[in-house]
Amino acid sequence: MTSPDSIDQLIQKSISLKAFNTFRFDYEAEYFAIADNLDSLRALLLWGKENDQIVTVIGSGSNLLISGHVSGLVIINRLMGINADTSNSENVTLRVAAGEEWHKLVEYTVYQNWYGIENLALIPGTAGAAPVQNIGAYGVEVKDVLSKVQVIDKQTADVFWIPAEDCGFAYRNSHFKGKWKDNLIITAIELKLKKQAELELSYGGLHSQLKGEATLKSVFELVCEVRESKLPSPAKIANAGSFFKNPIVSQEKHTSLKEQFPELVSFAHGEQYKLAAGWLIDQAGWKGKEYLGVGVYPKQALVLVNYSESSANALLALEEKVKHAVFEKYGVELEREPVELPIPSLRQGD
Ligand SMILES: Cc1cc2nc3c(=O)[nH]c(=O)nc-3n(C[C@H](O)[C@H](O)[C@H](O)COP(=O)(O)OP(=O)(O)OC[C@H]3O[C@@H](n4cnc5c(N)ncnc54)[C@H](O)[C@@H]3O)c2cc1C
Repeated sequence: MTSPDSIDQLIQKSISLKAFNTFRFDYEAEYFAIADNLDSLRALLLWGKENDQIVTVIGSGSNLLISGHVSGLVIINRLMGINADTSNSENVTLRVAAGEEWHKLVEYTVYQNWYGIENLALIPGTAGAAPVQNIGAYGVEVKDVLSKVQVIDKQTADVFWIPAEDCGFAYRNSHFKGKWKDNLIITAIELKLKKQAELELSYGGLHSQLKGEATLKSVFELVCEVRESKLPSPAKIANAGSFFKNPIVSQEKHTSLKEQFPELVSFAHGEQYKLAAGWLIDQAGWKGKEYLGVGVYPKQALVLVNYSESSANALLALEEKVKHAVFEKYGVELEREPVELPIPSLRQGD
């Protein structure tokens, strides 16, 4: 157990979050702690409750837009550990602590010859954040392989499992981003992967770009290669990946857009259509443009980058300009993908 003395040693005051968000905006956490085991996480939550402090959890900060100092306690999740049950002849059940790095997990599964998450290679972030926005790429979403999620209740510090089907997974969304965001922290995930070959090659031109035989390793390597050629590594250029979701529109809206803009890039999405937001931004004239130390990435217009700013002001202004330009041209509202901090509603006890 973590004693009251050691909890005080865990918590620091007024710590810069610059190293804990991939946009590298320089705002402070009022209180700050790193949790590397469940006991200290539990003790930190109880401290937050006793001291009436908002508790915010950050993984790798790769889907965050920090736009001001964050009051209350910021906990960096570094819960580690992977456990594999390989006893079943068809599936492998993997339990992964929430602080494990997602891409390292993908790499590990590929080298073990387990199928299911190879298309999700090189997505930055922690395993625990993967269900929050139901990460996805190249036709695969984490919900496709997720069987359950272990959580801790911020108020009671109780730990329990939730079946994946109850998590409200949708395109870049889940209850962890919605109704549970103030109450639950993910502490582990359980994935079911396949021992037999099953590859998804129908999206993003994977099939046509494969040079040799389609194997688990070749698909993994191709995904890494394509992503590296298109997306800026946060280690080199500060960014949070796609800044906007691909907008989903009705059939009628899609038909009318297609009549006006025959080149429109879109995909069927159930009864609706998903529009390629990068294409809309590009056609609205913003691809590669720089604005006050921030900009739209030249190789992928969906990504906003921070070249030199320590505050989020310029980026927020650029976001408005891009949204305005797209709305003016297409009548389509772009929605932001990263989560903004601080979130006022996170105040505990409100
Ligand atoms: C270059 C680049 C490429 C990207 N490509 C993709 C992509 O292809 N597909 C995709 O889906 N995403 C992509 N992303 C976005 C990002 O990688 C994912 O959203 C990732 O899951 C974020 O993980 P994180 O640990 O950094 O979360 P953070 O940014 O730290 O947190 C994001 C949100 O989740 C919450 N959160 C974090 N951990 C927990 C937890 N344990 N329990 C509860 N809530 C938690 C935070 O409070 C915050 O609200 C990309 C980002 C970058 C920078």
